[in-house]
Amino acid sequence: MVVREGHVRIAGLLLLLLSVVAAVRRFGEASLPDEQQQQQQQLIPEELLGSFGAYPNLLQLNDEHRETFHPVILVPHDITPKVFDYRNAKGLASSERVLRARRQSRWWRRWLLRLRLRPLQKLLVPKRLIQFQCVPQDDNDDDDDDDEGVEPWSIGRYDENRESMYSSAHFQDTSHQIDGYGGQRTVHLGIDLGAPVGTKVHAFTDGRVHSVGYNPEFGDYGHVIVTQHTLPSGTDIWALYGHLDKSILRGKHKGTLIQKGQVIGRLGDCHENGGWEVPHVHFQLAVKSPETHDMPGASSVEDRPQALLDYPDPRYVLGPLY
Ligand SMILES: [Zn+2]
Repeated sequence: MVVREGHVRIAGLLLLLLSVVAAVRRFGEASLPDEQQQQQQQLIPEELLGSFGAYPNLLQLNDEHRETFHPVILVPHDITPKVFDYRNAKGLASSERVLRARRQSRWWRRWLLRLRLRPLQKLLVPKRLIQFQCVPQDDNDDDDDDDEGVEPWSIGRYDENRESMYSSAHFQDTSHQIDGYGGQRTVHLGIDLGAPVGTKVHAFTDGRVHSVGYNPEFGDYGHVIVTQHTLPSGTDIWALYGHLDKSILRGKHKGTLIQKGQVIGRLGDCHENGGWEVPHVHFQLAVKSPETHDMPGASSVEDRPQALLDYPDPRYVLGPLY
């Protein structure tokens, strides 16, 4: 009897212990993003805290200036792009998807895709004719005619530590340097504007082409253009638009004048955008002239304080997206 009571007590204690462990684990999982957010906030040095977001207004731009800028991407009025947390996300397409997209990227498919981006003509172009897009399709979406993939309109944040996403050699090769930045680069230095393949990308203000080209490495920018502008403050600034399609290469070279609102490219699919699954433009600002059509889209955690000064928060141009 005594032994049985002892067993019951031990079993009871074990059950209690297990439920406490389970509750603690559940709490830990639920609060993880907040904890990570706090850790990330703590990484921002005091001297960098500014009025807009958490970053200094290095470019001396205000709302009045921003009203004169053209949006980089025109988002349909009835859509609010979703702000994604990419800290633990992947992002690169499988090589199989990239190969399939390359095989299927015929000129007439591009035209059909562009037609389908317009609301009325969407009805005329069956989705199966433009299936080459790399963006993963939403399996739960029953409305097959209206499926552009998972959340095509999206925003990826500046100064986000993306350890899972930047695991490819391009970001982990410590021998490789871009404008003085090397190491294991995981801190995102631009803002990603996600939209359907073929969406037009506009120059935010007047300027000229600094450089244009194709950075084909897996995880790189694919087709990319860098423009140079003089801001109202008199400061020179360089803007990089990455992950575009090959149309950017037509009629543009160093020094070509660019007008505000001009279409400087379109969003590329994964076979030409550096292998990224979700079509998007990586928009990044630099206060120093880049060497070529490239900027470190991500820096190492160690280089982050300097990187935030060299590559200011793009929201000073794009506005308060989040
Ligand atoms: Zn990006």
